[in-house]
Amino acid sequence: MKEIPFNKPYLTGKEVHYLYQSVYSGKISGNGKYTKLCQEFFETAYSIKKALMTTSCTDALEMCALLLDIKEGDEIIAPSYTFVSTVLPFIRQGANIVFADSLPDHPNIDESKVEELITDKTKAIVVVHYAGVACNMKKILNIAQKHNVRVVEDAAQSIDSFYNGKPLGSLGDLATFSFHETKNIISGEGGLLAINNPIFINRSELIWEKGTNRASFFRGEINKYGWVDTGSSFLPSEIISAFLYAQIECLNAIQERRIKLWNLYNEELKSLIGQIGLPMLPKYATNNAHMYYVVCKDLSERDRLTRYLKNSGIMAVPHYQSLHQSEYYKSIGGHQFDLPNADRFTSCLLRLPLYYELEEEQVVFISSQIKEFYKN
Ligand SMILES: *Cc1c(COP(=O)(O)O)cnc(C)c1O
Repeated sequence: MKEIPFNKPYLTGKEVHYLYQSVYSGKISGNGKYTKLCQEFFETAYSIKKALMTTSCTDALEMCALLLDIKEGDEIIAPSYTFVSTVLPFIRQGANIVFADSLPDHPNIDESKVEELITDKTKAIVVVHYAGVACNMKKILNIAQKHNVRVVEDAAQSIDSFYNGKPLGSLGDLATFSFHETKNIISGEGGLLAINNPIFINRSELIWEKGTNRASFFRGEINKYGWVDTGSSFLPSEIISAFLYAQIECLNAIQERRIKLWNLYNEELKSLIGQIGLPMLPKYATNNAHMYYVVCKDLSERDRLTRYLKNSGIMAVPHYQSLHQSEYYKSIGGHQFDLPNADRFTSCLLRLPLYYELEEEQVVFISSQIKEFYKN
């Protein structure tokens, strides 16, 4: 029996061609032709004021923590059911994370619980569009405006997805994308910072270029460059952007394929509704088919289903451990929160294989195995 992996990175075929071009162009460091092509694509396709390629989504979030001037004692509101990188950069700057619960029927932050968490120390609300499904951005942005705090979208999973017609990543003051090999389009490791609030544009380039005004120098705006701010080496080499550009050119085909497979899962599994939870899509959100998952009744049922699928050669995997329950967060004496929905997704959510080269028959097979499991 051939094993069905959880993920398989897809190559469009042009990656090595563009890599070759970037290597032999003589310009291999960052901010060259392919960096600019990738950034322009995001700015144009997704109404982003300024896009900067980064070495990862984690690094784009590091840039957010620096741009927002996060200091000891500041507070950040964020969901607990997310990846480490959503909060780690803010913790390193000395912030306390105030964790919010997930919605009862979706891992996204419960927007109705956010306002009560705001204090005079709150600097920002960091939202995560889980599985590429939009959070309730109107509510979040209204709360932020009322209390004068910033909004960061962790849009790592959200390429080509929309909230009431507006692209995810274009709504917060800042937003971050990931091109890690598990995402819809990939460059191995890689990310992008989207700057939508113009007050952050100038500084973002300095922080991106190790605290220097080199980008401005290369545009001929100043005649020498120097050290003017904090920062780090956040820009990736042309090699990363060249790889990503090949993927961008095939984005539509990739999305079409993923959505087709996602819909097939949903159709095949809908007879199980009542026994198992399937992904929920609010009216204001589109589906970019980043992920297909099911929600089991409890941890022991998920463990049994995972083993059952594994015995049929199918690799299904859980997702996050709520961050407020993590070893590191506890070791730094993080405040404890009661977040029952986040805890339930920690124990019960199981992700199914979904990648470009997955075949329809495999989706039907995986679904049939899940139905078989629930028959017994
Ligand atoms: C993948 C992911 C990240 C991290 O992305 P990297 O590019 O690997 O740093 C951060 N947040 C979320 C929600 C993610 O899914």
